[in-house]
Amino acid sequence: MSADVLLQRLDKVQKSGRGWRALCPACGGRGRKLSITESDDGRLLLHCFAGCPAGAVVQAVGLTLADLFPEAPEDDKDKPEDRRRRRRAAREAQWGAALEMLDFEATIVAIAAADLAAGKALSDEDAARLALARERIDGARTVLRDLQPWRPSERFVSGEAAA
Ligand SMILES: [Zn+2]
Repeated sequence: MSADVLLQRLDKVQKSGRGWRALCPACGGRGRKLSITESDDGRLLLHCFAGCPAGAVVQAVGLTLADLFPEAPEDDKDKPEDRRRRRRAAREAQWGAALEMLDFEATIVAIAAADLAAGKALSDEDAARLALARERIDGARTVLRDLQPWRPSERFVSGEAAA
């Protein structure tokens, strides 16, 4: 996906050095906390200075982590192993981001659970954040389930693990 598609979905986009800064769609606020840069291989790299996982940022604008990867060139000279490598890199990035999201949101749930266990009531703000955590956990679980990372994948079957 080209950077434009993402940038169109963000607010207050401003060019900054080699990339852009924008409002973070996941955590909101008024500051341009989200940094967007493009890696040398055309991948879009997201960093929220408030700590939002990249998966949460793309989810908030209706995209997926796979969208952060450049489209495969429509070129017959493109070798099958290159295509496979790209697909694998995209899949592994999705798994990694889903795990990062689970880790992050599990912390939110754990804090709420500790408050409840201590007999404290959740504020409306806490309850809303907890609802968001549930939504993100569901999203991450869907990624992990659909991509079946825990099953042997082609890389083990095809002997490419050492590559
Ligand atoms: Zn954020």
